[in-house]
Amino acid sequence: ERLDETERALIARREKVLGPAYRLFYEKPLHLVRGEGVFLYDAAGDKYLDAYNNVASLGHCHPRVVEAITKQTAVLNTHTRYLHEGIVDYAEALTATFPEALSQAMFTCTGSEANDLAVRIARHVTGGTGIIATDLAYHGLTSAVAEFSPSLGESVTLGAHVRTIPAPDSYRQSPAEVMEKFGRDVSAAIADLRRHGIKPAMLITDTIFSSDGIFAGPKGFLKPAVDAIHAAGGLFVADEVQPGFGRTGEAMWGFERHGVAPDMVTIGKPMGNGYPMAGIVLRPEVIAEFGPRARYFNTFGGNPVAAAAGKAVLETIRIEGLQQNALEVGRYLMDGLRSLSHPEIGDVRGSGLFIGVEIVADPTAKTPDAALTTRIVNGLRERRVLISASGPNANILKIRPPLVFSRENADMLLDVMGDVLKTV
Ligand code: PMP
Repeated sequence: ERLDETERALIARREKVLGPAYRLFYEKPLHLVRGEGVFLYDAAGDKYLDAYNNVASLGHCHPRVVEAITKQTAVLNTHTRYLHEGIVDYAEALTATFPEALSQAMFTCTGSEANDLAVRIARHVTGGTGIIATDLAYHGLTSAVAEFSPSLGESVTLGAHVRTIPAPDSYRQSPAEVMEKFGRDVSAAIADLRRHGIKPAMLITDTIFSSDGIFAGPKGFLKPAVDAIHAAGGLFVADEVQPGFGRTGEAMWGFERHGVAPDMVTIGKPMGNGYPMAGIVLRPEVIAEFGPRARYFNTFGGNPVAAAAGKAVLETIRIEGLQQNALEVGRYLMDGLRSLSHPEIGDVRGSGLFIGVEIVADPTAKTPDAALTTRIVNGLRERRVLISASGPNANILKIRPPLVFSRENADMLLDVMGDVLKTV
C-alpha cells in the first residue's frame, strides 16, 4: 500500500509548519479522523483495532466523559481560586482510591508538570538535590524533568545531580536476582551521590517501567529500593502516568503491586480520558511546609471542566469494572501470546492490559531483534491492528489497549499477530 495524494500533501504541510521535532508512527503514517471504543477510523473509512492508546483508557470518545465535559463547558470554566464543589468532589473521589496516607491532591495539566512539581517539593522537604531514575526512564519534557529522562537520548544532558540505574530485566535475570539487584543498585547510586557531596532528594520510577521495556515482576522488587531511599533521607516518587487508573488489573495503582508506600504519586494520561489533566497525590507531611510558601497556581490545572472529566473517568472505571476487565482480558491475551509459540517470541510479560513481548533473533542467546520488531509493528498496522515497540533495543512489542478491550478484541489481535509472524 502506498500513500495517496491527500496524505502526502498533509505530511508536506505538517513538516513545513510544525518543523523537525515531530514524528509520525509507522512506515505508512495513519490519517485518523474518528475514534469509538477500541476502534479508530481513517480518512478512507477503514477501521483499526487500537491496542496501544492508554490515554483513551475507557475507549475513544467515551459518552460519559464527553457528556461531563460538554455539560460543564456550557456552565462554567474558571480556575482554582474560586470556591467550586467540582474540584473538591473530584479530589475526594481520587484520593479515596489511594492508601490512606496519600490524602492530598494537586492538579496540573501534564505528567511532565506533575513530575516537575514533585522535584521541587522533594528538594524542599529533604534539603537534597540528588535524583535517582532508571537507565531508560521517561518522566517528561520540562528542563528539570528531561535531566532525569534518559530515554530522550542525546538531546538531553543528564543533570550532575542525577544517577541512573538499570531497570530490573526479568527476562535476563532470575526472580531472586531481580528482587535483590534493584535495591542494591539504588543503594550504590545513593553512595555515589554522597561521594560527590550530593544529598539524595528522591528516587523516581515508573512502576511498570514502560520505556525501559515493561517490567512488572516479580511483585515486591521495588521494596528494597524504596527502603534504601527512605533510609537515606530521600523520598520515593511513584510515576503512575502509565500504569495508573487500573491498567495493571491487579491494583488501581502500580506501586500497590509492590507493597510500597510512595511519598508522592504522579498521575496523568488516562486521568481525563483525553482531556488534558494530570497531578500529584501526596502525603500531607511533604507539602506542609512547602505548600504555604509555594503560591501554587496552575491556570488550567484542576479547573471545573477537568474535575468533571476526571470524575466521569473514575465513575466509569468503577461502573464498567474496568480494572477487573484489564486483569481478566490481560491474562487471556498474555496466555494467547505465549501459545503462539514462535521462536522469535522470547518473553511475554506484564500485568493487566500492560503487556510487553520481547522479540529475539535467538531465544537461547536472547539476542534482541529490532528489525524484526519493526516489521511486526508495521505488519500489524497493514492489517489494521495498532501497537508499538519500546525498550533499550526497540525490540519489545508494547501492547497497551484501552481497558474496555474484550476477549473478542484479544482474539482478533492474536489472529492477526499469528498471521504477521508467519509472513515477516
Ligand atoms: N511519566 C511517564 C511515565 C510518561 O510515560 C509520560 C508521558 N509519556 C510522562 C511522565 C509525561 O507526561 P506528559 O506527556 O503528560 O507531560
